[in-house]
Amino acid sequence: MAAHQEKKPEERKRKNTQNDTRASKVQWGRAWEVDWFSLANIIFLLMFAPLIVYYFIMSCDQYQCSLTDPLIDLFTGNKHLSDIWNKTPTLTYKAAGIYTLWVTFQVFLYLFIPDFCHKLLPGYVGGVQEGAVTPAGVVNKYEINGLQAWIITHVLWFANAYYFHWFSPTIIFDNWIPLLWCANILGYAVSTFAMIKSYFFPTNAKDCKFTGNFFYDYMMGIEFNPRIGKWFDFKLFFNGRPGIVAWTLINLSYAAKQQELYGQVTNSMILVNILQGIYVLDFFWNEAWYLKTIDICHDHFGWYLGWGDCVWLPYLYTLQGLYLVYHPVQLCTGNAIGILMLGLIGYYIFRMTNHQKDLFRRTNGNCKIWGKKPEYIECSYMSVDGTKYYSKLMTSGFWGWARHFNYTGDLMGSLAYCLTCGFEHILPYFYIVYMTILLIHRCIRDEHRCFSKYGKDWKRYTAAVPCRLIPGIF
Ligand code: NDP
Repeated sequence: MAAHQEKKPEERKRKNTQNDTRASKVQWGRAWEVDWFSLANIIFLLMFAPLIVYYFIMSCDQYQCSLTDPLIDLFTGNKHLSDIWNKTPTLTYKAAGIYTLWVTFQVFLYLFIPDFCHKLLPGYVGGVQEGAVTPAGVVNKYEINGLQAWIITHVLWFANAYYFHWFSPTIIFDNWIPLLWCANILGYAVSTFAMIKSYFFPTNAKDCKFTGNFFYDYMMGIEFNPRIGKWFDFKLFFNGRPGIVAWTLINLSYAAKQQELYGQVTNSMILVNILQGIYVLDFFWNEAWYLKTIDICHDHFGWYLGWGDCVWLPYLYTLQGLYLVYHPVQLCTGNAIGILMLGLIGYYIFRMTNHQKDLFRRTNGNCKIWGKKPEYIECSYMSVDGTKYYSKLMTSGFWGWARHFNYTGDLMGSLAYCLTCGFEHILPYFYIVYMTILLIHRCIRDEHRCFSKYGKDWKRYTAAVPCRLIPGIF
């Protein structure tokens, strides 16, 4: 368990005199009040995010992945919105069946197959693990079995592709738009359910945040860790499965489609499969670590996570593979090696930076970073019940280079995925643009939260590590 999560009785000071009102305003997690700028952004996203996803997927389906041609057609009167809409595949019983089976299977793997991977794989942390302490001072337990779910799903996928032939490996590509409607239905259903649940039967009422603004609460969530029963945790399930387990299957389906259409799989498609495959596997290998990331530790569960995990992630994170089905790019060896190196170095930075923080927090600073004892700043914070906790912010290793060097590595990897697609269209570059905005915004959001949490200690930290992403520049 990370040091910052442990209550330390000897160090802890109970502030019994604090009244409830003051305690309830402790600035943790998402905001208590909504400013007009956040509200405007939220309404914009609620209205346009589903349209953006539709526009990208439709552009590939009807315009060979050109983002400008649909607009030109509409503005020149060549086509009406209704023409595009009428050409869009509708929801089908087949897609509904596939999707229901898929989600049910993932729920089954999540809930009913206790982790065996941690018994077989040295170094892998699985099984029952504790999450971070919540603002109300609760420590949740999680059954970490994502790697196992990923392995079982992929073994079945390959067994089907090479042996059973129950369905074609191109099944995902072939039903991509009908499946989009199913993913939307689930995304909206789960977000709406989470909102209703937070009013009527919250898992932990003390960890709920109400702003009074319907749109903000719907988007950013009210409950911190909604659960059904003891083990079905909404955040862990929807963040990791079905979206991230599906990510590698979606890419495999695209590769199968290339094979079907062109009789070969291009090296760019192989690169996308490998680089994104490493990222996905890394996610599941480190699922226990993931319990300590912002998504689980700080975000409440609303549309942002519910719909985002069901629709945004599987549809927009896989655009490179989709693009390569329509435009099979064969890279020259030099470019392929260059992109592979960029992706691998980015991954190394991403992983090592995350690993350094994890090790540092797990050992309470009693470890070696680059062969030396880590340097850090001592800090303290308070939970809703007025309990004081102590923590440490590392200022050496990659964490001494920049405050979010893990994001920098992530961005290098993201750029590598996009570069596999060449420069003919901008559609595959959406990912790097999006990730840059996401991670810079996340950086600012996280720092705002950390400042609220640690106060002057956070200021001392930012003075010691002045840059956010790129040492000496930003
Ligand atoms: P971090 O892993 O950087 O975690 C930030 C938290 O770490 C802070 O809130 C603070 O938490 C703690 N912290 C900050 N500075 C220090 C320090 N110097 N020493 C010790 N602890 C510190 O952020 P994320 O959870 O956002 O990201 C995790 C990974 O996931 C990243 O590598 C990111 O790139 C990736 N990611 C990928 C996304 C994708 O869509 N592909 C989306 C989002 C993230 P505390 O309150 O505990 O002090």
